Amino acid sequence: MALSESNGGPSHSPLVVRDSAPADLLIRRAHVLDPRAGIDAQHDVLVRGGEIASLGAPGTLEAPHGAEVLDGEGRHLFPGFVDPHVHFRTPGQEHKEDLDSGTRSAAAGGFVAVIAMPNTEPVVDSAPVLRSLREAARREARVPVGFLASITTGLAGDALTEMAELRDTGALGFTDDGKPVHRAAILQRALQYQRLCGGVLALHEEDPSLSGHGVMHEGEVSARLGLAGIPSISESTLIARDAAIAGYEDGAIHIQHLSARESVAAVAEAKARGVRITCEASPHHLALTEDDVLASRLDTRLKMNPPLRGAADRQALIDGLREGTIDCIATDHAPHAREEKEVPWEQAPMGTTGLETAFAAVHTELVVPGVLPLALVVEKLSAGAELFGLVPPRIAVGRPAELCLIDLAAEWEVGEAGYASRSENCCFAGRTLRGKVLATVAAGAVAYRERALALSAA
Ligand SMILES: [Zn+2]
Ligand SMILES: [Zn+2]
Repeated sequence: MALSESNGGPSHSPLVVRDSAPADLLIRRAHVLDPRAGIDAQHDVLVRGGEIASLGAPGTLEAPHGAEVLDGEGRHLFPGFVDPHVHFRTPGQEHKEDLDSGTRSAAAGGFVAVIAMPNTEPVVDSAPVLRSLREAARREARVPVGFLASITTGLAGDALTEMAELRDTGALGFTDDGKPVHRAAILQRALQYQRLCGGVLALHEEDPSLSGHGVMHEGEVSARLGLAGIPSISESTLIARDAAIAGYEDGAIHIQHLSARESVAAVAEAKARGVRITCEASPHHLALTEDDVLASRLDTRLKMNPPLRGAADRQALIDGLREGTIDCIATDHAPHAREEKEVPWEQAPMGTTGLETAFAAVHTELVVPGVLPLALVVEKLSAGAELFGLVPPRIAVGRPAELCLIDLAAEWEVGEAGYASRSENCCFAGRTLRGKVLATVAAGAVAYRERALALSAA
């Protein structure tokens, strides 16, 4: 994956991955679907030396000596997914996840690139911390990883980080994710620095004076259970404020994990005004609601921030994705240790893992019932790349192989075979999903291959 030329950007390559043997691979008779390349038909796809060497009519391409052959008959080949929002917990909490396990989880979900958040211990707020993370990724990462640095030192919300130096060290952009940028003047100053050094500001929108000690969506279910709620306006009011500031400074902002109907309206309104604003929605907010929290009897794996909201909110996210207000799907993969989650709902930390279930959850809940077209979902699962100045994967001759092979008909129970992630706090656990990733090729190398997948050498 290459950095877009038009975007300015850091002097270092923005994504880091360990060295792996480039793939020599023939995928036979797969249904190739690449909405950006305009391909939606059965093809043979030949990968040589990690690059897409040719596309041919089904059954026409010969495997060169030594190449692996994958049977694509009845399966789909997509451009690999790109997730602009993951938490890999390193440095500091490697018992939950690290670059090895996190990128293993990404590859198992069909992702060929991910962007990691800086709310680690220590926070990624200085060039030395970022530099050592990138070095670790060069040793451990199975798929390319990019890093965001924090907007404020220690995520404390007071002082800006050395944004220019962090960009020079390879930061793809900036975020205080986990927390909002509470003070408007700090966001304004960050946008002024952005003019000099580039780098999108990704924003976790939550007004703490409204969300308070809330533990779930403020609505019918919280009222019934007597639990403190997090109102939708804690998100939408801050989006409106930040869109106004971004518009005033002509800066670029990206709104993370949109959850509420009012938020979709706030982003649509800002876009209509010409504000440079983009946003993402997560598979869990697209698939689940507060009713699932109730039905789960307060299973803490369904506790996350922002919370699962009402049916009308979920519908607004789906409509926003279809109509283009929502630019991409991002998982907000947030691993937590089992003992942290095995406590009463009120005390449990917020977050769900999501890399391994992202495609299957959206496919099962929205594509299979005919709510969203498959091509749209495939496109939105890699559209996060563009928002951070990366070129999204494409199935075209001469491009690096960034692919995932998926069996759309295969059903599997989430968690039954364990997880590639080091953590098990997946909100879809126990559900039967349709759509299984069989193989992932990232940065030209095979990063994941399902155990049962038949392989034969030519
Ligand atoms: Zn967040
Ligand atoms: Zn997050």
